[in-house]
Amino acid sequence: MEQLLDVGIIGGGPAGLSAALVLGRARRSVIVIDEGKPRNRVTHEIHGFLTRDRTKPADFRRIAREEISAYPTVRFVDDKAAAVTGNDGRFVITTTQGTVYNVRKLLFAVGKRDLPVEINGLTEVYGKSAFVCPYCDGWELRDRPLAIIAKGGGAHHVAKVLSGWSNQTVICSNGPDELTAEQREELMRHNVAIYDSPIQLIESTDGYVSRIKLEDGSAVDCTGIFFAPRLAAGSDLPDSLGCKMTETGTVVADGFGKTSVAGVYSAGDAATELYQAITAASLGSLAAVGINGELITEAWEKLG
Ligand SMILES: Cc1cc2nc3c(=O)[nH]c(=O)nc-3n(C[C@H](O)[C@H](O)[C@H](O)COP(=O)(O)OP(=O)(O)OC[C@H]3O[C@@H](n4cnc5c(N)ncnc54)[C@H](O)[C@@H]3O)c2cc1C
Repeated sequence: MEQLLDVGIIGGGPAGLSAALVLGRARRSVIVIDEGKPRNRVTHEIHGFLTRDRTKPADFRRIAREEISAYPTVRFVDDKAAAVTGNDGRFVITTTQGTVYNVRKLLFAVGKRDLPVEINGLTEVYGKSAFVCPYCDGWELRDRPLAIIAKGGGAHHVAKVLSGWSNQTVICSNGPDELTAEQREELMRHNVAIYDSPIQLIESTDGYVSRIKLEDGSAVDCTGIFFAPRLAAGSDLPDSLGCKMTETGTVVADGFGKTSVAGVYSAGDAATELYQAITAASLGSLAAVGINGELITEAWEKLG
């Protein structure tokens, strides 16, 4: 019979690694399977993570793995989990390299993934001068001319939030702006100009944007962009195992990461729509506590 491990963690970003640390310290046998394709791999630094501000994403993972290696019951595998079957007490994970792991509990820390962006030139600047979250990258772009590529309530919200970092912000809605008259008036009062012509091209050099050319022949000079990519679940596995999902690809989980399927937990970007590394790490830690608590309760009940 194959070895039965306590926990299989799929995904080795801040969420999965944080869970692995807590579970390793709780003396649980853990396998962390990670394909190594985090959503923030386009960026050069993680910002706003206490004690790790401005750390390279790859360094963050390396340091985390080094710290966790102090706990001998945690193993790392660089591979992709291709299929998961089974039930609470024994889940079977099969990887693309054909390795099989049997685990009592499962944690999906698979993150989210960006769907392809359909704006000419945006891929080239993503992660260098185009970002998704003012709290993550607003400081680096402070006091600069910025363009928000968004429509409707989302554009209005980001413009308002960004006003804390720059007062030279415009909206490029890439087609009808979908703002209400009230939102449009409010933006105008705060000197946020709105350009609703479709975007022809984002001009840049080495990933650094200089201008957004619009189809009506006009252009917007800017040195930073914020936009909201469409997202999907980082993996189809939670859905395929029957976990309840939202329409936007988020696994539905309680405060300790417990999903609708017995024995299955989820944490990090996979299970929230607040995308910050420290939040993901925190959710990973909470899920580890939930999983360990469940394993302890089961062991106690078995003893009577
Ligand atoms: C451009 C950009 C900049 C950002 N900047 C910041 C910032 O400055 N500060 C900040 O706090 N946050 C930032 N974020 C957000 C932050 O990166 C995420 O919130 C955080 O990485 C989420 O951690 P996670 O562990 O949930 O997921 P991820 O870090 O995405 O890790 C998920 C892991 O699961 C793996 N995986 C998925 N499916 C499988 C499978 N089937 N088998 C094996 N492995 C699998 C993936 O390959 C990946 O390695 C940024 C995000 C983006 C997109």
